[in-house]
Amino acid sequence: MTPSSAPRAEIVVDLAALRHNVTVLRELVGEGVAMMTVVKADGYGHGLLESAAAARAAGAAWLGVATIDEALALRAGGDTGRVLCWLGVPGEDYAAAIEADVDVTAYSVAELDEIRMAVVAVGRPARVQLKVDTGLSRGGATLRAWPDVVAEARAGEDARIWSVTGIWSHLACSDEPDHPANDAQETAFREALAVAGSAGLDPEVRHLANSAAAILRPSARFDLVRCGIASYGLDPAPGRTPDLGLVPAMTARARLAVVKPVAAGAGVSYGHTWVAGHDTTVALVPVGYADGVPRHASNRAEVWVAGRRRPVRGRVCMDQLVVDLEGDAAAAGDPVVLFGTGVSGEPTAQDWAEASDTISYEIVTRIGGRMTRRHVDTAPDSLRGAP
Ligand SMILES: *Cc1c(COP(=O)(O)O)cnc(C)c1O
Repeated sequence: MTPSSAPRAEIVVDLAALRHNVTVLRELVGEGVAMMTVVKADGYGHGLLESAAAARAAGAAWLGVATIDEALALRAGGDTGRVLCWLGVPGEDYAAAIEADVDVTAYSVAELDEIRMAVVAVGRPARVQLKVDTGLSRGGATLRAWPDVVAEARAGEDARIWSVTGIWSHLACSDEPDHPANDAQETAFREALAVAGSAGLDPEVRHLANSAAAILRPSARFDLVRCGIASYGLDPAPGRTPDLGLVPAMTARARLAVVKPVAAGAGVSYGHTWVAGHDTTVALVPVGYADGVPRHASNRAEVWVAGRRRPVRGRVCMDQLVVDLEGDAAAAGDPVVLFGTGVSGEPTAQDWAEASDTISYEIVTRIGGRMTRRHVDTAPDSLRGAP
């Protein structure tokens, strides 16, 4: 047999879907609200630079990343637009961020002091955003520390060390729109903005909303929304989001390694956690937890083979998993889709999340390992190259 050009296992990312989703979200929030597409974690597993370029083409004025390294990778890849990063540790290379024209986030006076030293070293002012903790209890200045952070930020602005370009916070329960924490955090954010305003800060952008809040909570949109998961076509608040026509951009697929009969009574995969109740046909899918397939999906998830969903039988192994073809004909080498858009009936990343007791974010960001990744563009002309 000659080698096949189809890979053993691959991730296919449709950039047209990404552009479409960013366009849908921009239209939803309206002209007065800037769009930040969040491309941290390798674009949620979709590819940092490819996702960034698609988001820019669809009108994202900002890109958001967690680390300075991710921001620098965007610059190295040729992105010249506004980029915000927000997660540092002491000793972070702020000088590199300033030189690369990246907006950095400070949570504390100590971080502002580090940024000031970097400004002095680089010899040009920084762009700094301030994050206030309004109730997530993760990063950000506590409300108690906030007046000091604001005063320091204002003093640095007066001294032309930096300009404060944004003030922002992050919600804990945006995927549960009726949760009382949403109102409480929005109120705390407005109070924090008032404190900053009284101290003389007038930032370019104030922002609070991630995907779920951008869609479900118009009052939280302020000047800018930070959309991650919805840009990739996945539902940020399953069961609560209106149908916006978002299209999942990622398909995870492979080729069947083996197809063979197993007899009634045969145990399948490690631990024999599934035993064939009757004679059947099983297929071996050549991906496992080393490729980011959750082991927790053992005996629970489904894949798409020969026009139907097929259950995973037994445990997901490091390199492989077994599915039940229930007697239908498929051959070694045939395609298998783990998850995709769902339009043909194939499982989605959301289905895998539910089978694995997690969220779709984790499914798409962890899938990979030895799988190759390929970008395609299925755009009808109407979606191509939005504004
Ligand atoms: C990851 C992240 C986002 C994006 O959240 P989604 O729910 O994916 O839209 C927004 N803001 C911050 C601070 C984040 O860390």
